[in-house]
Amino acid sequence: MPFVHLPEGSRFLRPATERQAGAAAVFLDRDGVLLADVHFLRRPAQLRVLPGVPEAVRALQEHFALVVVTNQSGIARGLFGEEELLAIHAELARRLAIEGGVLDALYFCPHLPEGTVPAYRMDCECRKPKPGMLVRAACEWQLDLARSFMVGDAWRDVAAGRAAGVHSILLGSGEFQGTGAIAVAADLAQAARLILARRNGQSGLAGSVGRRG
Ligand SMILES: [Zn+2]
Repeated sequence: MPFVHLPEGSRFLRPATERQAGAAAVFLDRDGVLLADVHFLRRPAQLRVLPGVPEAVRALQEHFALVVVTNQSGIARGLFGEEELLAIHAELARRLAIEGGVLDALYFCPHLPEGTVPAYRMDCECRKPKPGMLVRAACEWQLDLARSFMVGDAWRDVAAGRAAGVHSILLGSGEFQGTGAIAVAADLAQAARLILARRNGQSGLAGSVGRRG
């Protein structure tokens, strides 16, 4: 069972009557997508939001629920606890909010089969590449997976997206054919442009930006 943080500005906290059932979501990996990849980020002071992220989040939030899905095996490894992770996620949401960005939920998997903390030592259904976090979020917030997207920088993210039935965009500069991703993008800003173009019915998504005009 994945765990979840709902930040102060989350639209999921509004009464259900104000929310649209069947909303599409963009699922976001955390490290390497929103935040600079620090090995086992432990303290809010280490947190660095990547360039272009607040703008991309603002553009996406107009049309999508925004749900972070992140493997946090550092908890099972005993490197940090749930309270420290909550502080990091609150700080991430706060930094984005300063620039008008909203995160609706942050799902995290604290587990690891070979973890050292017994409470989290398990072969769970939420650790990516498994789709448990996406499926759980879709179930809890009535999200339409068929119209949703996953953005991540690792094969695990793409695999989790595929298993959940969403379109995945792989961040990086490498080859994506055969990964199951529908496109590759340099960063979240570029991924957001691809997602919004596809939503608006402009074709040409079968490749990177600019490949087919
Ligand atoms: Zn898990």
